[in-house]
Amino acid sequence: MRSAIALCKTANKIGSLAGRGSSMPGSLALRLCPDILSRIKLPETVIAVTGSNGKTSTVEMIAHILTENGLSVAWNKAGSNQTEGVATCLLCDCTPNGRVRSDVVLIESDERFARHTFRFFHPKYYVITNLYRDQMTRNGHPEWAHRVIRESIYDDMHLILNADDPQIADYGFGRDKVTWFGADHLDEDTETNTTRYNDGAFCPACGGRMEYEYFHYNHAGKYRCTECGFHRPDTDVTITDADYDAQQITINGKYKVHLPFSNIAYCYNTLAAFAACEKAGVAPEKIIEAMEGFISHSKRVESFRVNGKPGYLLVSKHENSVAYDRAIETAARDKRTSSVMVIVDEISRKYFTSETSWIWDIDFEKLNVPQVKQIILAGLYCWDLDTRFEVTDIPKDRIVVCEDLGEAARIMGGSDTECFYVMTCFVDQIKFRALREVEEIGE
Ligand SMILES: [Zn+2]
Repeated sequence: MRSAIALCKTANKIGSLAGRGSSMPGSLALRLCPDILSRIKLPETVIAVTGSNGKTSTVEMIAHILTENGLSVAWNKAGSNQTEGVATCLLCDCTPNGRVRSDVVLIESDERFARHTFRFFHPKYYVITNLYRDQMTRNGHPEWAHRVIRESIYDDMHLILNADDPQIADYGFGRDKVTWFGADHLDEDTETNTTRYNDGAFCPACGGRMEYEYFHYNHAGKYRCTECGFHRPDTDVTITDADYDAQQITINGKYKVHLPFSNIAYCYNTLAAFAACEKAGVAPEKIIEAMEGFISHSKRVESFRVNGKPGYLLVSKHENSVAYDRAIETAARDKRTSSVMVIVDEISRKYFTSETSWIWDIDFEKLNVPQVKQIILAGLYCWDLDTRFEVTDIPKDRIVVCEDLGEAARIMGGSDTECFYVMTCFVDQIKFRALREVEEIGE
């Protein structure tokens, strides 16, 4: 074990000097000592976070809150969330004889790999955020993801679950050790599912048809199975009010949290972080205080200028329609006139795929508001986007199709709108930021 730890630390030092990713050192250590993760001594508090969306933001927020409250935290901040990345994070924090030095271990885990990682050790608190269609080429259908996440859950874990997502609530059915988080009925809820599809239409427990009293977004809401009685559980940590104009939510009727931007997904991340930190022993008042100072480092929203006018880059995820739906909501909520650019130039940075069915799951119809004066479809897949927009009611004269990103930015800069929105994935975000037309990039 000692030599595997030493090897991991050395490889990590060399790797970081060479600017390499963080999974290689852990991978080498696992080759030398395959069960090393079950042999090291972990601190009492080990928190893990998995799910389709919001993992990184939730983990960042938890790490910030715990650190602000005087706890040292070992976490895989480099974003390597498969078993090897987790090994790098833990082994680099170990003493030579295998004791993790930090007060808390905090793991972001890929939803497909959690079942492999947690064979070696069990987190004390296991946060599961939500389950949505995400990178189906790689991850498969949500039903499959639902099954493999279940394989990562053990009886000795305390689960922290999203009660509003039936796919997640199913994991806590009949268990004692669960903290439920969710939102009360909110002003912006709808009686019907307003998205393009509904992955909560059938009960994950018995397959029966589900009934909803209301939807918060997508398949999150208040549900009940018409056959087996499976229903949304009562929550322990609750958003009791959300005021998007004031950019503020209220948790449990008394704790007010300011939001950097109005987005229900961000509210859920905040709630999950609150629940996890409270379990880890931080007082609610202290959590709220630390949250106020939290600035997201994940760069999901960046400001920029083109032609002197303000723009906002909303980093979504290709192959993930829910992330796009939230970005569209943010853009459509702005009362100023805007030009909105959607870029799909390279679908994934990790593997090659030209599969674009996910474009059909995105609710582009919501951009059909009067203040969105222009929609520019850009990048290699601009014609796939154009075909998708063909079946919306958005007037054709608002849509511009332009493959070249520089040309698209010039068209946007030439519009007479008050601001711009650009939505795209990490990999295409870099290309957009590098354009000479784009100035003053900030957070
Ligand atoms: Zn049922």
